[in-house]
Amino acid sequence: MSSKWVYLFEEVDEAERHVGGEWEKVRALLGGKGANLADMTRIGVPVPPGFTVTTEACNAYLAAGEQLPEGMWEEELDALKAVEEKTGKRLGDPEKPLLVSCRSGAKFSMPGMMDTVLNIGLNDETAKGMIELTEDERFVYDAYRRLVQLFGSVVLDIPDEPFEQALDELKKGLGVSSDTDLAADDWKQLTATFKRIVKKHKGFDFPQDPYEQLKLATEAVFKSWNGRRAVDYRNAAGIDHDLGTGVNIVTMVFGNIGWDSGTGVAFTRDPATGEKILYGDYLLNAQGEDVVAGIRNTKNIDEMGSDLPEAYAEFLKICDRLEHHYREMQDVEFTVEQKKLWMLQTRDGKRTAKAAIKIAVDMANEGLISREEAVMRVKPSDVDTLMHPQFDLKAKAQATGEGKLLAKGVNASPGAAVGIAAFDADLAEGWGKAGKDVVMVRPFTKPDDVHGMIAAKGILTSEGGATSHAAVVARQFGRPCVVGASDVVIDLEERQMTANGVVVKEGEWISIDGGTGEAFVGQIPTVSPSFDEETDLITLLSWADEFRRLEVWANADYPRDATRARSFGAQGIGLCRTEHMFFEEERLPIVQRMIVAKSEEEREKSLDELLPFQRSDFEGIFKAMDGLPVIIRLIDPPLHEFMPDERGLLEQIIEKRVKKETKDLAELEELLAAVEGMHESNPMMGMRGVRLSIMMPGIVKMQVRAIFEAACNMAKQGVVVKPEVMIPLTGHVNELKAIQPQLVETARQVMTEKGIEIEYKFGTMIEIPRAAITGDEIASVAEFFSFGTNDLTQMAFGYSRDDAEARFLLEYVERGILPENPFQTIDRDGVGELMKMAVEKGRAARPDLEVGICGEHGGDPSSIEFCHLIDQNYVSCSPFRVPVARLAAAHAALHHKK
Ligand code: ADP
Ligand code: MG
Ligand code: MG
Repeated sequence: MSSKWVYLFEEVDEAERHVGGEWEKVRALLGGKGANLADMTRIGVPVPPGFTVTTEACNAYLAAGEQLPEGMWEEELDALKAVEEKTGKRLGDPEKPLLVSCRSGAKFSMPGMMDTVLNIGLNDETAKGMIELTEDERFVYDAYRRLVQLFGSVVLDIPDEPFEQALDELKKGLGVSSDTDLAADDWKQLTATFKRIVKKHKGFDFPQDPYEQLKLATEAVFKSWNGRRAVDYRNAAGIDHDLGTGVNIVTMVFGNIGWDSGTGVAFTRDPATGEKILYGDYLLNAQGEDVVAGIRNTKNIDEMGSDLPEAYAEFLKICDRLEHHYREMQDVEFTVEQKKLWMLQTRDGKRTAKAAIKIAVDMANEGLISREEAVMRVKPSDVDTLMHPQFDLKAKAQATGEGKLLAKGVNASPGAAVGIAAFDADLAEGWGKAGKDVVMVRPFTKPDDVHGMIAAKGILTSEGGATSHAAVVARQFGRPCVVGASDVVIDLEERQMTANGVVVKEGEWISIDGGTGEAFVGQIPTVSPSFDEETDLITLLSWADEFRRLEVWANADYPRDATRARSFGAQGIGLCRTEHMFFEEERLPIVQRMIVAKSEEEREKSLDELLPFQRSDFEGIFKAMDGLPVIIRLIDPPLHEFMPDERGLLEQIIEKRVKKETKDLAELEELLAAVEGMHESNPMMGMRGVRLSIMMPGIVKMQVRAIFEAACNMAKQGVVVKPEVMIPLTGHVNELKAIQPQLVETARQVMTEKGIEIEYKFGTMIEIPRAAITGDEIASVAEFFSFGTNDLTQMAFGYSRDDAEARFLLEYVERGILPENPFQTIDRDGVGELMKMAVEKGRAARPDLEVGICGEHGGDPSSIEFCHLIDQNYVSCSPFRVPVARLAAAHAALHHKK
């Protein structure tokens, strides 16, 4: 097999042919950076000449134990020749020196890869040549020392400190504070010092041979693919480890060669809000890194209009062109060398959840993409992020009034974060893993810090701007973030920060508002977000609704939850649990009396007392869900859950006996006897659900009466009610046969008493494997199925969820024994097969059988997709997940469009 290891930027068509035409595969071959540089070259955007060594070469190199694949270096030299011809310069030629940068670039842009090395090709000879050409000795030695420094730290693995220390000492000696105060001789002297540092650390001289520089840099990029930072990041972001990285060799252009030069980075839309404005920073007379590093205060990109008008006009045109070409918001890097604009990078810009939604909706409205694409582009997790809490405005105002506002910085990534301050990434990660809420605080962040940022609830930095590392990473991972809060003085030695006269020590609580850029000391309470104000989300979801087939219902026990769910778009209640209602303060004693009743009469009396409470609960829910179905589940847990704790009772009794108090003693003893009598060795598999109903039908009859009285009362007021009564934990059809007719009879009685007929259904939860397997028999009685996937998963796996999650399940997932936590995402092969069988058999017996899911999986996107695939009618999830589920259901439908 003959391989081509190197592609010139002009050879993108060839690369496309090599992979069979698909752009995603070109990106895999050349890496994202290389593919887009080549693509820009093809559409006529000015890119400095260069070439890409493929990811295949990287993989071959690593697979062969760090041996360059045969022919690769020769191809690299050929490509270099082509670049030399194009530029009229030559590598290592003192008369016309060609300088290049060496840049890593995998399919997905990721931190942890080798940092870019600029100015490759400089040595003692070419430096002299450059001075003659540019007549700017200061510029040349600044470039040269940059090469020695970057090459030393990045390629040769020497720590940064000795280089930085040498620079600091030089400045101190001269009594200056800024790099710009250094003159040509100073840079020259520093270059010599840097070379000595290389020699001291490595035992050999900084390589003077430009070809050796190029080769070592290329190999260093390859090796960085397996560096710890890169591996960690890929694990966290779910990127394949076998993609490999490309190496891009790009002719240097100089933004630091005078005041008609400059460099900058920009997003074609605001990455925090999604607004359609050019958003970026730039610097005159500076090189790429300077903008991101935050060494000098950057200027807003608009100012470039007056500083460099022609280049700016061209830049605007190119940005527009790139957005149309990629049909996506772009994140670009550029440099202006003596008024001439060069594009150095473009890629799809990282953005916040809010911006992702706005940009998708706007682009569809602008006609750049279809509504279908807009819906597909937004991730369910973006919607989830928007549904997360925000700070309570009143509480925030109060905190400000109390002097708790520490500082205001740049609002880099929205959302409210409350946590204890951790001043380094390792600590943030450690505390995060220990289950603590952490806000990571740093002067600025580097790729080394990503693990801590992921573990943190939020990030605060005192330096840097909206395009700084902290800001970009925070937006990508959806962490609230405030950057550049320059009033915050961080003392990493003392492990504390000071701002607005307040000292915050490590481990103390702070709150940051990434939407406004504010940082506070203390814990500020949060409130639910206002869905009504998310107009772009509402638009996007209305489009999603047109594409989805699954209905989205909600689990809600109380009228207020039902109302909220409905406002989020719920089309029914899939699970209303009645037992919560039994726990309320005024009701629990009645429930307990009912349970310990010694005669049927006594029990009836307590049930009669409970009836009006239940009826009014149901009236509220029916009213809130006017016109929509409401599934009410009859009592499910074992009765002992409503009783006082056995041990507590015993202690009370002993105390009374010791003190010889007789008041209430007899009752307590009776209660204890009752509780003891109810003891089960495995209550979750004992007398509960339908079994309890069969043994004690009084409770469920009361519940059904309450449901139908409420329904009839509401119907008389003009509310359209659609009650569906759900019997939990059925395992055998005979259980339904034993209880359901009695309940239907109660329902009929109530309707006769009330003189009104309403539409209703009786059905069951499917949460025991046997019920799923005998779905046809069950459906001969049940009119609907609702999968209780929590119990179904427990019983299919034979796990007790709490024990499993506390002891081994997470490790199972970590070690790959299970691909996922089956309590979060439906295990399609096992639990899923049971569900599928239940649907197929059930519908065979009853073609119009209504099927849904009410377990927690109902809000999980992958599980929703599965529910779509097995042809369920709806998914039901918690109210706050309803918007997420609407989008996920649309994704499932679009993804599997026939
Ligand atoms: P990163 O992935 O960290 O952005 P890049 O390879 O894009 O790394 O480069 C780092 C900085 O160096 C960027 O600001 C980039 O624009 C600049 N740069 C890279 N190559 C060149 C070049 N050939 N000429 C001028 N600047 C360059
Ligand atoms: Mg870049
Ligand atoms: Mg259950």
